[in-house]
Amino acid sequence: MPKHISSGLKYLAAVELKSRGLSHKEIADELDLDRSTVSHYLNGRNLSWGSVDVANTIVNMCPKDFLSMVQVLFNDLDKIQTIVSILKSEQYKTIVSKSCIGCGLCVDLCVMKAIKLDSLKAKIEPDLCCGCLVCEEECPTRSIRILEVNK
Ligand code: SF4
Ligand code: SF4
Repeated sequence: MPKHISSGLKYLAAVELKSRGLSHKEIADELDLDRSTVSHYLNGRNLSWGSVDVANTIVNMCPKDFLSMVQVLFNDLDKIQTIVSILKSEQYKTIVSKSCIGCGLCVDLCVMKAIKLDSLKAKIEPDLCCGCLVCEEECPTRSIRILEVNK
């Protein structure tokens, strides 16, 4: 069943990339699939629509739960980053204040690996951030703010 659900998520990602104007080859490269699989997905073949319904439910969960589900289903950083970045519904503005002490806790906690330390200050890559808020909640000096940006 998890394999079917991950296929449902890849299908949703393929549809999203198609809507952005990517070719089948570009979609295949982006999702690490072969082109015939992408064609099958986009033609609705070899898919369980129940799995697509479950995948839609996962995408519509709160960002933290969505990320947790994708992490369990894919268990591979590149694939997690790709699927979440394509299917997340919001963009985020990330702010790190001067009170950051460079402890690195947020770096370790971020599943998307969106945070690095730069000169002993946290630096967040907004395009990778999916708004799970774990870093904001766990920072010991409350130095991080994650804000939704309307598309
Ligand atoms: S957890 Fe907070 S204090 Fe520690 S590196 Fe991250 S932003 Fe800085
Ligand atoms: S909210 Fe923080 S922990 Fe979550 S993805 Fe964004 S940077 Fe990473």
